[in-house]
This record gives sequence, C-alpha cells and structure tokens, in this order.
Amino acid sequence: MTNGVLQGIGMTSQRTRTRMIERLREKGIRNEAVLAAMAAVPRHVFVEEALASRAYEDTALPLGMGQTISQPYIVARMIELLLDGRPRLGKTLEIGAGCGYQAAVLAQLTDDVYAVERIGPLLEKAKANMRVLQQFNVRLKHADGHLGLPEAGPFDSIIVAAAGLRVPPALLQQLAPGGRLVLPVGTTEQYLSFIESTPQGLVEKRLDAVRFVPLLAGTQ
Ligand code: SAH
Repeated sequence: MTNGVLQGIGMTSQRTRTRMIERLREKGIRNEAVLAAMAAVPRHVFVEEALASRAYEDTALPLGMGQTISQPYIVARMIELLLDGRPRLGKTLEIGAGCGYQAAVLAQLTDDVYAVERIGPLLEKAKANMRVLQQFNVRLKHADGHLGLPEAGPFDSIIVAAAGLRVPPALLQQLAPGGRLVLPVGTTEQYLSFIESTPQGLVEKRLDAVRFVPLLAGTQ
C-alpha cells in the first residue's frame, strides 16, 4: 500500500497526465490528434515548481507577471476548432504566448509555429521552456500581437490567448485563404469567436462563454 501511495505522489507522472486526457474527453474533446498533442506536452515544465503538483488539473494557473497559463480544456477546445476536418494546422500564429505551453501543444500539430508575447520576461521563459523540451519549430517574438506578424504571414491558423474588445483587423488581413482564427472577445463578458476565410469572405461563429486575461497594447 505504501508503494501505491508513493507512486501516486508522482504528480508529473504519465498516469496523472493520462487522467487529464480522460477529463478532456469527458468534457467533450473528441479530436484524437488534439488529445495526443495534449498528452505529449509536459505541462509541469511550464508552471512554477510550487504549483507543479497541480499542473495536470484542468484549471488556469498563475505564471507570473499577473498572467495565467491557460486551462487545458480551453487550449484543447480552441485547437480542436482550428484543426476540425484538417490533418494539420499549417502555418500557425499564436498571440499571447505566456511561457509557451499552448505554443508547445500547437507545435505537435504543425511544423511551423510563430508565437508573440508582449511581456519580455515571459517571452524569455517561453524560450527557455522550448529549449528544455527541445521544441525547435516554435519561433517566439517580443511584440504587440494586435499587429499580428505581417513578415511571417499569411497564416492557416491564428489563435489568441487574451481577450480584446474587438477582433484586431491585422489578424483578419493575415489569414490565408481557408485560414481560421479563434479568439476570445469582450471584457467582463467574453465569448469565443471562430472566424474562417472562405471563398465567400470571412464567416464568423460566436461560441462558448469564456474568461481570459485582457489583450493589452504595447510591450513591456
Ligand atoms: N498561451 C499561454 C497563455 C498566456 S496568458 C499559455 O499557453 O498558457 C495570455 C498572454 O497574452 C499573457 O502572457 C499576456 O501578456 C499576453 N498578451 C496580452 N496582450 C497581448 C498582446 N497585445 N500581444 C501579445 N501578447 C499579449
């Protein structure tokens, strides 16, 4: 029995991670490629050591500088929307990289991830985390994501991890034909917006109520 208990303490163990994937399934995530990507990324690497034991709970956790590492369910849900019916994400842009968790998940589903973060020290953490994971297909940039990343676009997939009052026009301009954008919109009340670039033009769907940190202007 003692052994069992001790093994159970291994919060960073594969078993704990597998439980997280089971919870994502229970909450309705169905895309096997997304679930495999979530299973492949060790979330404990991205949270403060004091919180590592909670790394596989389905909650947002503080990551410093007043920001949070996104809830696994929301990460999976947004990526599932981007991937739906496509084998891979294609060229992908993330706005609001934080310390890089979601970027690492995206990097399991495409060869080409660009991620932008406005807070310098978080971006440095993200770079260090990518080195730990040997995740070399994520390019990180310190910039204000309102502008997208024109030098690298257009993108097949764009995902935003912070909520603005409206959809930044630059992001719409940087969508490739057939490209998809998923982002939270609003202040105290927020919803997920899913926008697809179709031959008939941009088509928007308003989906779940969500809660994200604000999309802020400028860099720090
Ligand atoms: N993607 C992260 C979530 C980080 S929280 C994860 O996987 O856990 C959202 C991040 O968006 C914060 O780090 C915040 O600094 C950043 N952010 C807010 N406004 C931004 C902007 N205009 N451009 C780039 N990043 C921004």
